Amino acid sequence: MSVSELKRRRTFAVISHPDAGKTTLTEKLLLFSGAIQIAGTVKGRKSSRFATSDWMDIEKQRGISVASSVMQFEYGDAVMNLLDTPGHEDFSEDTYRVLTAVDAAIMVIDGANGVEAQTLKLLEVCRSRKTPIITFINKLDREVRQPLDLLDEIEQHLGVAAVPFTWPIGMGKEFQGVYDIRHDQVRVFRAGQETLDGAVETLQGLGDADGERRFGPAWLRTREEVELITGASPAFDKEAFLRGDQSPVLFGSAINNFGVKEILDTMVELAPPPSARMTVQRPVDPAEPKFTGVVFKVQANMDLAHRDRVAFIRVCSGRFERGMALKVSRTGKTFRANNVVAFLSQRRETISEAYPGDIIGIPNHGTLSLGDTLTEGEDLQFIGLPFFAPEIFQTIEVVDPMRAKQLGEALRQFGDEGAIQVFRPVLGGSLVLGAVGQLQFEVVKHRLAAEYKVEVRISPARYRMSRWVTCDDPAELRRFSDSYAARMALDAADAPTYLATHGSEIEVAQKLWPKIVFNELRERS
Ligand code: GDP
Repeated sequence: MSVSELKRRRTFAVISHPDAGKTTLTEKLLLFSGAIQIAGTVKGRKSSRFATSDWMDIEKQRGISVASSVMQFEYGDAVMNLLDTPGHEDFSEDTYRVLTAVDAAIMVIDGANGVEAQTLKLLEVCRSRKTPIITFINKLDREVRQPLDLLDEIEQHLGVAAVPFTWPIGMGKEFQGVYDIRHDQVRVFRAGQETLDGAVETLQGLGDADGERRFGPAWLRTREEVELITGASPAFDKEAFLRGDQSPVLFGSAINNFGVKEILDTMVELAPPPSARMTVQRPVDPAEPKFTGVVFKVQANMDLAHRDRVAFIRVCSGRFERGMALKVSRTGKTFRANNVVAFLSQRRETISEAYPGDIIGIPNHGTLSLGDTLTEGEDLQFIGLPFFAPEIFQTIEVVDPMRAKQLGEALRQFGDEGAIQVFRPVLGGSLVLGAVGQLQFEVVKHRLAAEYKVEVRISPARYRMSRWVTCDDPAELRRFSDSYAARMALDAADAPTYLATHGSEIEVAQKLWPKIVFNELRERS
């Protein structure tokens, strides 16, 4: 394994609340790296690709981004892997899992709205995994909230210490630029589309007497605020950042390409290259010579012309080579990875090699499931891929009993993709579907009809909550399952699940059965 290839990888996601500017920023990141030449390509690409796919109609109708993709581009010496996360909360479960494949994240906040619900949820996942986060406060070309208030909010809501790397000079029509605290340098704002290094005018320090004359009261105010915050906020500590306890904060305007280069520079300078990952058996170091990888996402019909289902694999160690024999730990089966795609900026391309941190896609017909570990032969199972307890439950029945087999097959596949959770009640009866958002049911219904020619009736189930039940003592778990047989179901991985009609039921059950653990999250293991 070439250590230099490893060290230059940065694998990250951009997270935000819808409309904060994630798509715009993503596009500008690509523009800066030279991966694309013209703004507008990212959105254009999305709509044209979705136009080819039936079930994506739903996404088009709603005007949201359902599918997430991967973009690889070079920036200086670094190789950046940017994982897009679907923005709509209906698809948060998939989004959560994408976050397990990154080493860092950029959090985009709309300066006018501050920290919003969706950001909070995603941040929880980052926090629990100690993912380092760089914060970008966007839309400074508009009237936004006071920077000090925004920092306060980040600290209070997200529980991370916000360390400003830059500070805005004015906002809205009076937005003059930012003061780069670490380099004692002012970067002057000009609305537009600068892409080249040096296109931004810079001034040394905030002491310039000319500054006051040129920029007016905003200049003085910035001077005061910077004095205040440099006294009050903690010094930047790289270790604390890598633990996810501190977040560098940058201000800017994505649409004007302002502050975007600083994000890339901060990412390259501070964000970590791929590091060791845990398996059930042992930690796996990325510099190990043998290839290992983990499936963190499975997506069907990304491209109807291919009619494929693509497993997204994060390379965890070694060097991937096209054509190599890979063992799927779950099944023990080996296959040759001849048909492999990488996601180079805008296109899906066939690749011949990949390194830790890179994402490769393997088209397959059901060989690979969410959470699978691939190795050159060693039995390993990466841990940490979460499944979240669904919040909405519906029962599903096939209209034509002759199609029951197809329904079973389709649901098994959807379960493997993590598109929806499927519960089989242990006492029999209708299957129960569980999802985090309502849209997932619509997608399932649509796909059943379009891909499997199965018509179904989906109706609300009486359940409101589910918990995966575990216990150190298998006999106790059996006793519990027997006592609550009418409430017990098995999920796609045969994990025993307790279905409740009300939260208080779980509380009562917990009191009566203190040894049973009611888990809100299941990790593939
Ligand atoms: P996403 O939903 O997070 O991907 O957000 P988009 O990137 O689609 O942006 C949402 C809206 O905010 C769009 O209309 C953008 O043009 C706009 N927008 C993005 N960045 C800026 C900015 O820096 N300033 C202003 N004024 N608008 C912006």
